[in-house]
Amino acid sequence: MKRTIILLFALLMLTPSQKASAWGREGHETIAKIAERNLTKRAKKRIENYLGGHSIVYYAKWCDEYRHTPEYKFTTYWHVAPVDAECRYTDDLLDPQKGNAIYGLERVIGELRHYKELPDSAVNVNLKYVIHLVGDMHCPAHIKYAGRNMKYDVKFEDKYHKPHKFYVHSVWDNEIITTARIWSVSEWAEELDRLSPAERRAVTEGTLRDWLHDAAVCCEKQFDIAKPDERLGQDFLNEAVPLVESQILKAGHRLAKVLNELFD
Ligand SMILES: [Zn+2]
Repeated sequence: MKRTIILLFALLMLTPSQKASAWGREGHETIAKIAERNLTKRAKKRIENYLGGHSIVYYAKWCDEYRHTPEYKFTTYWHVAPVDAECRYTDDLLDPQKGNAIYGLERVIGELRHYKELPDSAVNVNLKYVIHLVGDMHCPAHIKYAGRNMKYDVKFEDKYHKPHKFYVHSVWDNEIITTARIWSVSEWAEELDRLSPAERRAVTEGTLRDWLHDAAVCCEKQFDIAKPDERLGQDFLNEAVPLVESQILKAGHRLAKVLNELFD
């Protein structure tokens, strides 16, 4: 009995830092908020009709909330975007049993190209995948680099400057954002969304696979700035926050581009 209790306690202690849902709530909703600010009026209206009157921000985290259910378990691996040694996605990286973010996105975007012929419920769920997975493929910890060890712990200093042991994955998903950025989602989106039209065009040029390549190249610095067992304080945040914010900004604009192309 005592051993069981100790084991249960140990498991409970382990779970929060080992949980892996890209970006957490703040990141996903800020990406969706930036996208929403850049949707055309017509696209926004059509999309919200399919989302039962809700916004894309409202459903930004939906895929993480339902991925454990029997109905959506098949999307478990859709939250990860694999790349090869050149930081590129190729079809060789696809495990057909599992899928991945690019596979999932290409599939559902392909279906949404004919959204008027789909049942409303199919448009609704496919939209939720797009809103979420464009975010996931821009998250440093959700890009799966060939030959890289991404499963290790670091000592991350929280807002009280006390180092705690964290799974490096959850530092990128949650801890950087919740330590360094305490704005609301709308405020953070407002601060980030300041690209010129030319910058916006440059960021949104290309395909999903090009965007993943760009994300993988930019996020490769994660291995230099957060090494196994390293103590990560303000110096780390000074490098990590601009990377996280740049990824969130790009993801937001790219999500808007996909949605405008489909629904405007
Ligand atoms: Zn996810």
